[in-house]
Amino acid sequence: MKDFKYISEDYLHYVWKYRMLDADALVTDDGQLVEIIYPGYHNHHSGPDFSHAKIRIGDQLWVGNVEIHVLHSDWDKHGHGGDPAYNNIILHVVYEKDVAVLSNVKQQFPTIELKNRLDNAHFSKYNALLSSGRDFPCQNLIGLLDQSFVKQWLEKQLIERLMQKAELVQKDWQFFKGDWDTVMYRYLARALGLKVNADPMWWLSGALPLPLIRKYTDNDLAFHALYFGQSGLLFSPTIREDGYVHALLTHFQHLARRHELQPMDPTIWRFLRMRPGSFPTVRVAQLALIMQHMPHLFSLFLQANSVEDVRQHLLRPMPEYWHNHYILGKPSKRGVQSISASTVDRLIINAVVPVLFAYAQYSQDESRMEKMIEWMYALPSERNALTEMFANSGVLQFDAATSQATIHAHQNYCRPRKCLQCAIGNKLLSR
Ligand code: SF4
Repeated sequence: MKDFKYISEDYLHYVWKYRMLDADALVTDDGQLVEIIYPGYHNHHSGPDFSHAKIRIGDQLWVGNVEIHVLHSDWDKHGHGGDPAYNNIILHVVYEKDVAVLSNVKQQFPTIELKNRLDNAHFSKYNALLSSGRDFPCQNLIGLLDQSFVKQWLEKQLIERLMQKAELVQKDWQFFKGDWDTVMYRYLARALGLKVNADPMWWLSGALPLPLIRKYTDNDLAFHALYFGQSGLLFSPTIREDGYVHALLTHFQHLARRHELQPMDPTIWRFLRMRPGSFPTVRVAQLALIMQHMPHLFSLFLQANSVEDVRQHLLRPMPEYWHNHYILGKPSKRGVQSISASTVDRLIINAVVPVLFAYAQYSQDESRMEKMIEWMYALPSERNALTEMFANSGVLQFDAATSQATIHAHQNYCRPRKCLQCAIGNKLLSR
């Protein structure tokens, strides 16, 4: 085996776990015969790499921890010398025994060397996969696999993604003292901001809590004044005052005094390189529009039977002012007629489904969890460079379930090059 570039602990863990090594007449560094009866449980947290391994060394059967390194000297480099968690290792497995372990003599465990015992063909495939410079190493191979296998893998990725998001939602739910309406409101606001203005939208929804906005749902001007005033956009240095802006300012001054409101800094909002329909002014108007008509949005979404029901709640015509404005005080030939279908679908994918899935998990409602998965299959795929890249490799993107699954796989497996922990990687390596 000549190219050690991609010999990593990850690869050695894989080889050990699946016993992909030539174990014939395997001996420790002091010449005792080794029989691997059970490689142990793979530990992904701190501490030794495998626990409860069963290894016969010489005449003695040992049950305990196994630690794996590329080089023998990594034991000291990784600081295990003084760590009591590593005191009861039964076997040290290394790719290459370069130098003796320097730490405490008591920690001189029996060691086996895997060099010359690995499967060259398997390693070459692994090396070829990982040596791809792309952050999607199997880009040219995934399309060769059986489509039903890829489909199953995508389903698993989707469920992992929903679980991962649900964990974050539940943390926020605890922070908001168990108020699901607030969680849904904050997630919806953030999703409306897209990536660029997600944080300002999150802060804005925090600066306008539900009990406050619910007092003004029957007063259009006051409601929108709260949003534009608190966002700071009403005080942008470049704003031109027209009749609508003037009315918003007048209302906000009164509301700010009454509720001791402190507007946000207008410079935190990003307009650059955005399509006018996604300008923060438009998104703030859309958030105000949704919240004015649905101040109890969580319960409404909870009662929805289908994606279509949720769409009907969110697809709303914009106030007339926005039909020829993208920015406050600056008329334009075109404007925004309504919250678009694509925006609504993005809100459902990034806010409604994750929050309802988290709620279903919290209330142990499996049928609702399944319903959320069905909703993802009923929504169209998102379109971006990443989903295009998967589509070009043969992972066709028909629905949001697939696009979310590929986004999850890319973030959690492909980009960090965890192909060995991925079913696709395992399939490719076993071909
Ligand atoms: S992690 Fe899986 S899907 Fe991603 S590149 Fe590696 S093998 Fe392919």
